[in-house]
Amino acid sequence: MFFRKPDWWWDWTWTPVSGCRPVSDGCKYCWSLPWLKCHTWQTETVYTGAIEEAVDGSVRWTGDATALRPGDPMWNFPLTTFRDGVVNPALGPGKPNLIFAVVDGDLFLEGRPTEDINRVCRTLVASKHLGLLCSKYIRQMVDHLALLDPRSVPRWQSKLLLALVPKIRNGLTGGGRTCVHWPRLDGLCTSHSRHCLGR
Ligand code: SF4
Repeated sequence: MFFRKPDWWWDWTWTPVSGCRPVSDGCKYCWSLPWLKCHTWQTETVYTGAIEEAVDGSVRWTGDATALRPGDPMWNFPLTTFRDGVVNPALGPGKPNLIFAVVDGDLFLEGRPTEDINRVCRTLVASKHLGLLCSKYIRQMVDHLALLDPRSVPRWQSKLLLALVPKIRNGLTGGGRTCVHWPRLDGLCTSHSRHCLGR
């Protein structure tokens, strides 16, 4: 059984792809890099090739878009191991879980294969849960979604919550996040708005 940590406003995280590249001044404070530096893995992970150590000992993104290997069971995590979600969902008893996807890295990183982006989104959409996608690659996200088959839009709208982190907001670089309200997620956004950053 899975339990949400009390201070999480999401229920679980899932990172089947990784990789990023600084896109704004705010990236100087990238939370992921120190987190990844303090975690050492003995085997290959989704972060292998996504980060590298600089001469001064710091860790930086390589800019490569990485992904789990084909066949890695974690690709299907929302549909299999995590199928039933946590016992204490953030949205309340009996509500869908909120899966914060690609926490370390950016799904819409320039150069990421379209099929990897689609696989992440489609897996979330096919699951019993809701997906939360945060990105600073706004143009890439918008361009990707614009190519979505119109027949799929309503379902994606009902399953994916998009949070964009603009390069410049209110005149400040690296400003807070802005939720993009896909119309059919309005109800959800109202219910969890107290957690929404940058509102
Ligand atoms: S976009 Fe996000 S993950 Fe990427 S370098 Fe900037 S802060 Fe880090």
